[in-house]
Amino acid sequence: MNVRGFLALVGAVALFSAVPAPGAVPTPESWFGHRMGADRELLDWDKVVSYFEQLPNSSDRIRVSEYGRSAENRPMIVAIIAAPETLRNLDRYREIQRRLADPRITSPAQAEPMFREGKNMVLLTCSIHATEVASTHSAVEFAYRLITESNPHFDAILHNTILLLVPSLNPDGVDIVTRWYRRTLGTRWEGTGPPELFQKYVGHDNNRDWYIFSQPETRATISQLHNVWHPEIVYDVHQQGQNASRMFIPPWLDPIEPNIDPILVQEMNMMGTSMASDMTAAGKDGIAIHAAYDFWTPSRHYQAFHGGLRILTESASARLATPITVRPEQIDTTALGYDPRQRSWNYLQPWLGGTWRLRDIVDYQEIAFESLLYNAALHREEMLRNFYKVGQHQVARMAPWGAVISRDQRDPGATRKMLETLAAGQVEISQSADGDYVIPFQQPYSGYAKALLERQQYPNELIYPGGPPKQPYDVTAHTLPLLFGVDARFVEQPVNGLTRRTDFAPRSGGPIWRASDSDGWKAANALWAGGKSVWRNEAGDFSAAPQSGYGWHEVKRPRIGLYQSWMADIDEGWTRWLLEEFGFAYTTVHNADVQSGNLRGRFDTLIFADESPAAIENGYAPGAMPPEFTGGLGERGAEALRQFVRGGGTAIFLNRAAGYAIGYLGVRAKNVVAGVPVRDFYCPGSLLRARLDLRSPLTRGLPEDVTIWNEGSPAWESEENAVARYPERNVLASGWLLGESYVAGRTALIDARSGSGHIVLFGMRPQYRAQSYLTFKLLFNALVMGQ
Ligand SMILES: [Zn+2]
Repeated sequence: MNVRGFLALVGAVALFSAVPAPGAVPTPESWFGHRMGADRELLDWDKVVSYFEQLPNSSDRIRVSEYGRSAENRPMIVAIIAAPETLRNLDRYREIQRRLADPRITSPAQAEPMFREGKNMVLLTCSIHATEVASTHSAVEFAYRLITESNPHFDAILHNTILLLVPSLNPDGVDIVTRWYRRTLGTRWEGTGPPELFQKYVGHDNNRDWYIFSQPETRATISQLHNVWHPEIVYDVHQQGQNASRMFIPPWLDPIEPNIDPILVQEMNMMGTSMASDMTAAGKDGIAIHAAYDFWTPSRHYQAFHGGLRILTESASARLATPITVRPEQIDTTALGYDPRQRSWNYLQPWLGGTWRLRDIVDYQEIAFESLLYNAALHREEMLRNFYKVGQHQVARMAPWGAVISRDQRDPGATRKMLETLAAGQVEISQSADGDYVIPFQQPYSGYAKALLERQQYPNELIYPGGPPKQPYDVTAHTLPLLFGVDARFVEQPVNGLTRRTDFAPRSGGPIWRASDSDGWKAANALWAGGKSVWRNEAGDFSAAPQSGYGWHEVKRPRIGLYQSWMADIDEGWTRWLLEEFGFAYTTVHNADVQSGNLRGRFDTLIFADESPAAIENGYAPGAMPPEFTGGLGERGAEALRQFVRGGGTAIFLNRAAGYAIGYLGVRAKNVVAGVPVRDFYCPGSLLRARLDLRSPLTRGLPEDVTIWNEGSPAWESEENAVARYPERNVLASGWLLGESYVAGRTALIDARSGSGHIVLFGMRPQYRAQSYLTFKLLFNALVMGQ
């Protein structure tokens, strides 16, 4: 221990003498009726909340507050844990963070004493992925230990850091998974994942929401925690598969998103390897660093664009709370960045099989929590200094000088939404004298704004020359202007005469809503919901009443059915989110609803979200799940769909689901990229250029040239009506595309006729993760096809 650490310890011991005896704080065991991590025991969210809420009654090292509500209205809570004198001055420490986060309001001379006085702010978030159950257990036990035990490490942590502990970022998921686990306990399905999404709309994609902020959990956590406390470290706790390393810890793999400050990357390397050495010193095998996980998409890395580290650990899973035994020959050999069977510099003590249970995960996690916090305590002053320095780099940015988003846009609704989204991530937006929106880059989070406004050039990396691509961990493009269909440009020269804008008031609605404006669809849905009529003209514009001139006709509210399989399809959830966000009424349709026939009597439009054709046709195999959740549409469902379309209905298939329509509904199209090896063609989530046929009613309100979201998407050679095609060259707009010639000139959107109905095939995800406002309108137009 260094001198400062020793002094901290002495001070802490003196101050903690007033703390009640440890016995006064209820143990987790007494509260929950079992030890944390016990075999076959999972937690109820209300008990977790009540446990945390009573802790401040018997300890002055902790405060607990509700900071938001989940999608299903459960409380989201944060426990703030620090030395009592720190907690008494929380406002002061929060003010230091605010001042250090913005070098424009804090000079180096003013910052200097704050480096010495401030605390290292650590936000530790658990169980965002609810089937990764362990970390909520670890949070309960670790909080208890931190407020009851006294030892040099904990004392240094309490004195030097402020821990913001979120026992679950997804409270709904805690109960969804626990309910399913108890229902299946003792059956052959014990330990399986539930047949529903573990977050209402987006399931596992809830950690891909951290720049678009579409979900209430993300919005609450960003606005109430990240943007208020400006943590130097955000540690997000996850679990991975069963058969490779026991725990992954950074350093990350390449590529690192180019706008992330190198100081933060170096600190993540430092913190990760410190944690790995502590894990090893504690006798824990199977620690992998610099493996599997890259650092590209900002959808998972909010804090790395806001001056802080993002630390991830991924523990090996059991089967929820059911122990597993891994045989040596089951150890994975295909892990990225290391060989789980071999000793190497970044995997020094391979874990070669054995029994693995929830308690093992809790043990590993608590060592990792302590290690991270102790290292945060040791490096407190340097990390505060570097936090400020990263901000200095951001505000000094001059090339480009900034971005201009012109006031005249095709889609004012999407433009406003894009600006609001950037503002929610603390981007400052101004307006010029002529009304354009301007984002000067001399501000603390300019790298974040730049990353989201520019086109990504993902490195073209192969595993070996001529070999397959090095697959990114997630998607490769995040260019908001292309996704939103908004015109934005970088400028090299300063724009003068700016007025700061903090409001993005809705523009006043006229008698006509343009089809190009996504707000037009909201207006139409509001009218329908109020029992009123909606009129459209030939250009697709909306009105509450027919206007002068020809071509206005009444459009009826479509009766929409959204197919939901039992396989917890994330894209179905995103589609549901989209329909609700824009006010479309819909009915969820399961296999039996389709098979029962008479679909045309009940629906005008049926939507099948991105899911494999086999999942739609077969679902879970018999025996894989309780009988009510097995099976798919089968032949009866397919025949009911054929009748629906022949009878004038519209069936819409998104991305991979389009293969179902080709296989079972007779659409004449061939997916030319099916079966092509990834070394020849690869598009892991990128924005591609496409040209629309503006004669099609699907394209109303859209420009001829668009960018669409391709993520393992089909591209067709087809005899059917092609509504969108890829260009012959220069297909990639942002991200990564290998083997452009495979898709060049091919069809990306089909409107096939069958009887008096339509089958619409989207070779894209038109509603991609709540972001692709430009192509939302293709889907909306499809919802009113045939009218
Ligand atoms: Zn996870």
